[in-house]
This record gives sequence, structure tokens and C-alpha cells, in this order.
Amino acid sequence: MAEYQVLARRYRPQRFADVVGQDPIVTTLKNMMRFQRVAHAFLFCGSRGTGKTTLARLFAKALNCEALSADFEPCNQCASCKEITAGHSLDILEIDGASNRGIEDVRKITETVGYSAASGRYKIYIIDEVHMLTKEAFNALLKTLEEPPPKVKFFFATTEPHKVLPTILSRCQRFNLSRIAADQIVATLQKIADDMAITVEGEALRLIAAMADGGMRDAESLFDQVLAFHEGGITLETIAQVLGIMPRDIFFQIDQAGKAGDYAQAFEIVHQVFSQGKDLVFFVDGLIEHFRNILVVKLSGKNTPLLNASATDRERYEASALLYRKDQCMHVLDYLIEAQGQIRFAPSSRIALETIILSVMRSHQRIPIDYLVKELVQLEGKLNSGAPATAAPLPPPQPVQVAKGSISEDPTPSPTDIPTKKIPAVEPPPPQEPADVKELMKKQSRYDTVAHFAAVELGGSLQKMPLR
Ligand SMILES: [Zn+2]
Repeated sequence: MAEYQVLARRYRPQRFADVVGQDPIVTTLKNMMRFQRVAHAFLFCGSRGTGKTTLARLFAKALNCEALSADFEPCNQCASCKEITAGHSLDILEIDGASNRGIEDVRKITETVGYSAASGRYKIYIIDEVHMLTKEAFNALLKTLEEPPPKVKFFFATTEPHKVLPTILSRCQRFNLSRIAADQIVATLQKIADDMAITVEGEALRLIAAMADGGMRDAESLFDQVLAFHEGGITLETIAQVLGIMPRDIFFQIDQAGKAGDYAQAFEIVHQVFSQGKDLVFFVDGLIEHFRNILVVKLSGKNTPLLNASATDRERYEASALLYRKDQCMHVLDYLIEAQGQIRFAPSSRIALETIILSVMRSHQRIPIDYLVKELVQLEGKLNSGAPATAAPLPPPQPVQVAKGSISEDPTPSPTDIPTKKIPAVEPPPPQEPADVKELMKKQSRYDTVAHFAAVELGGSLQKMPLR
């Protein structure tokens, strides 16, 4: 049986043209070769799976290629190219900084630096996770880095450039690789699927891209996992099943049920999640992403590139966005992010999840604090102008929760939904006191009342927050 080669290796770019999402860096590297201004040390920085070592290897391959194309692409046919592709080139030495981090390991490098590469070629050291080297190892490397022998190059890669010593940084040409856009990941996975003659739903690839969070290697590993499981075409359902995540439907269901006040659905949804053995942490992560997407659509419209979704899902997000106020989305997000950290420690994850979904649904009942303050200020105006004190409707402190830090340009809750409460009229001041002092005192006491009212509301709602 032939050994299975993981997708990330099988489809590793062997030409600059196949590198995804790093166009400016590719252009710069080619220009360096074009103008023969190749520095002797490079640092490739970027989050995992963005192609740091892939680019380093490609660059090394191009520098040593015997038949470089006019467009500076390695030929992949010459002896040097073939050796590098197969991973046994004697001129390209790859070192994992994480497992060779001591001074002894670096000494081995600096001792071999003097031995030149095969005739005409460069000797290139690729050190991955270079930030893991010890300080002593860095210092041992420094001298070689300062004055490397001719035809020696150092390519470093790191996910954490801030941990690399400034003395090293200042001797390197630095490239910051960007996270790969979801659309580009989807397109690459689609190419792989076509190449392997596998039919796969576009939605399914989007879900993988969302989970990979900008890393092509992560996306390919997830796809590997799905391929190992599936038989026949790959659907959204397959992916959700294999990776233990929820399809988006269930989140849209929460939106509808919450608006309709159908709280029983919270229990049904959790039952569904549990009976399918889904990972709860993934579920809460998914819910956070859902509200993030709703907020993004609310702020930037459904066609925003900030949203990784199909046309159908964009329509659905737009419909859901109409069900929430902006401040409400922000409040729910705050709440979910806090709950996310705590769900692992909850004694009963089932009840914790029920509570979380109920709280999200009940966010429709929350009244923003600036709405309350506006009402109070209006009431004050009416009192001053002699209007009846009972005219302005006010929510009673007991059954409402107040959104903290809210911003409301959205429809505020209809006053008719809120039970009215009588506020006692302020006693007219005795006529003998000077007018400005009286006015000041009156204002002071009103603001005190507003502040006190707000404090009671906030205190009450904080106590009611679950998982605290
Ligand atoms: Zn070649």
C-alpha cells in the first residue's frame, strides 16, 4: 500500500506562482534576484501555516537553480532543484530551532559554515522557530551572521519575532507574511479537490477556511481529516460531523427563537448539541463568530469582505441583523467571550450551555442604560416645565437588565412595552432661598438619583449574569 502523503506536503508550492496570499514578498524576492541584491540573512515572520518555510525553501531553490526561468522561477528539473524537493540537498540545511536551541547546536552550524557548497551554489541555513534559540545560542550565531563567508545565507522563520534578539533582527531583511484570506484558502482547497477528483460543496470549504483562521497548512490538515473519513462527495454536513462543529443553521435558529421569546428552544438546541456529541467549547466559539458576523453585517452591510460566507448565508446574516440592536450585539459578544473562558470549569456543562443560550435569547429584554438616562433627563425637563410627573414611562428596576457600555442608534425598546412607574414629584423649594443655589441643589439631587438608579440596575443585572 502506497504511503499517504498529507496534502500540505503533496501540494506544497514548488514555484513562486503557486504561493498563495504573499504576493508582495514574492515580488520582492524575485526583484532581489533580478538586481542581484540578495542580502545574507532573512527573517520570515508570520502566524503558523502562512508559508514561512515554504517561501524560504523556494527562495533557496531559486538561488541554487541551474536553469532559473526568465521570471525567476526554479526549474524543478536540475540536480539542485530535485535534491531540494526530495529534502536531501547537502547545500540547504534545515534546522528546527525548537529542538536544537542550545549553544552546542549553534556551534555545529558555525563550524560547518566554512565548508563551501557544491561549486557555484549557495550554502543556505534555514532555521525554523528561530525565537526558540537560547540567548547564548543567539550570541554564538551573531558573529557568523555579521560576517558570513561568501555564498552563505541564513533564512530564519518565526511565529514570534518579538522574541528574537534585536541584534539578530537588525542584521536581517525582514518579511511579514500575512494571514491568508478565507477566499484564497477556499480557492486553493477547491483546486486540490479538483485535482483529486473529489466533489465538495463550496459551503463546506468555507467552513474549513473559517476554522483554519488564515493558515493554509491548518486548512489542508483539516481537509485531510475530512478526506480520511468521507465516502463520496463532501458536504457541509460531512465537515460538521467529522470536525465536531455545528452547521450555522442552529445559530440562526437561536436568533429567531430569541426574538419570538420561544425560550423552550434553548433546551431543545442544547439537547441536540449533546445528543450529537458536539464539542461545547466549539459551539460557544461558533456562537461568538455568529454574533461577530451579525455585528459586521450591521455595521458594514452584507456584502462586506470582512464576512466569510456564501451569498445565501449573507442573506441570512442580514435577516438576523434586523433582529438585534448594535448595542445588544456588543453586549452579547462581551458576555459570550466571558462565558467562553468559564464553560470549561462549569460543574454541569449542559446547564451552563442552556444558561448561555437563554441569556443570549433574553438579550432582547435588556434596556440600554443610555435609554434610561435619556428618559430620566426628559422626565426632569417635564418636571421643570410643570408637566405631570407621571407622563414619562419608566421601566421598574426589578425585571429589567441593563446593557453595560451600550451604544444605541438602533430602535430603543418601545415605551409601551415597559411598565410605567410613578416618580414622586420634587417638592417646590421654599420661596426665600436664592434662586441659583436652589437650582444647583435641585440639579445635583436629580443627577444623584440618575446615578443611584443606574448603579442599582447595573448591580442587579450583574448579579443575574450566570456563570459568575
Ligand atoms: Zn533548477
